[in-house]
Amino acid sequence: MNKGVLFVISAPSGCGKGSVLSLVTETNSNIHYSVSATTRKPREGEVNGVNYHFIKKEDFEALIQGGNMLEYAEYCGNYYGTPARPVKDMLNSGKHVMLEIEVQGAMKVKEKCPDAALIFVVPPSLDELKRRLLKRGTETEEVIAQRLAQAENEMRAAKEYDYIIVNENLETAAEDLKTVIRAEELRNRGCI
Ligand code: 5GP
Repeated sequence: MNKGVLFVISAPSGCGKGSVLSLVTETNSNIHYSVSATTRKPREGEVNGVNYHFIKKEDFEALIQGGNMLEYAEYCGNYYGTPARPVKDMLNSGKHVMLEIEVQGAMKVKEKCPDAALIFVVPPSLDELKRRLLKRGTETEEVIAQRLAQAENEMRAAKEYDYIIVNENLETAAEDLKTVIRAEELRNRGCI
């Protein structure tokens, strides 16, 4: 049996990658969405074990020490990381795995897993991104400013990614993502 494809998707905060991903994963049961661990506090409506595994800093550090993380990064004062075991198991079972992670983590995955497909979602412009973050209303002004600065930094890393998707229109971006997934399924990885 062929192994699944490891996908990594990154985007500046507020780019709508979550919505793009939901549209795609809802209709493709062969994609396993990797649930990350984080030390960030849950936002309203977020569910432990579904959106993230919300854990304490000490527990996160123990996972790192135990070599249990495929990658991790510190982002805006919190740890975020991908538990390695479920990713390996899913890929070995033939399922694709989607990691929704920031740039530093994506670069670590690229180093460790050169076969991974890296996708970067960008907003039509930084002004539009600011408007979307304000509209979401889940962060304080200080955090929004911090995230916008981070977004500008992250956009510079786009050149390291295999695919760029512009999220101007949700449906079009979702179609683009489906095309990328199909292209990666058809890539000749030397298995035949
Ligand atoms: P948020 O706090 O908005 O949920 O996430 C902040 C950033 O952390 C986003 O860019 C998100 O993609 C990223 N992130 C989520 N999980 C992980 C992870 O497991 N590893 C890394 N490196 N970044 C993550």
